[in-house]
Amino acid sequence: MILQLVQKNHKLLRTKLKKVHFPLSEQDKKDIKNLTDSMYYYKGVGIAANQCGINKQIVIVDCHWPEDGKRSPSVLINPQLLSATGEMLVEEGCLSCPKEFVKIKRPSNIMISYKNEDGKELFTFAGGNLLCHCLSHELDHLKGKLIIDYV
Ligand SMILES: [Zn+2]
Repeated sequence: MILQLVQKNHKLLRTKLKKVHFPLSEQDKKDIKNLTDSMYYYKGVGIAANQCGINKQIVIVDCHWPEDGKRSPSVLINPQLLSATGEMLVEEGCLSCPKEFVKIKRPSNIMISYKNEDGKELFTFAGGNLLCHCLSHELDHLKGKLIIDYV
């Protein structure tokens, strides 16, 4: 099911989101599926739950599909930034801030931990690529931060 994007001034976009508890509820699983469908529908490479009105620390990312057309979404639940180093300047847009593009200094290397759908703790490292700044962007959403805050 495709979810509606909330408006830019929606208070959930400005809210620190709630942690998800394990095992996942049926509703959590539905939310994950709907968020994934919605990310592709809106042609995003990442989406955070609050962008669709859901108060849960859930992020979906897929930075490859615009190039190769293959969908391989990653679901990150309760992600935490463990380290951020370096700097890169990137121009970003956001599904929640249509038509706004902002140049932002992002870390060039990040390490994050997160839980997968089975509740297993995993780690991911991203350096100097789209995934790296996409993850930084989505982690901002979970804290209630938007790209327009960088202007
Ligand atoms: Zn965004």
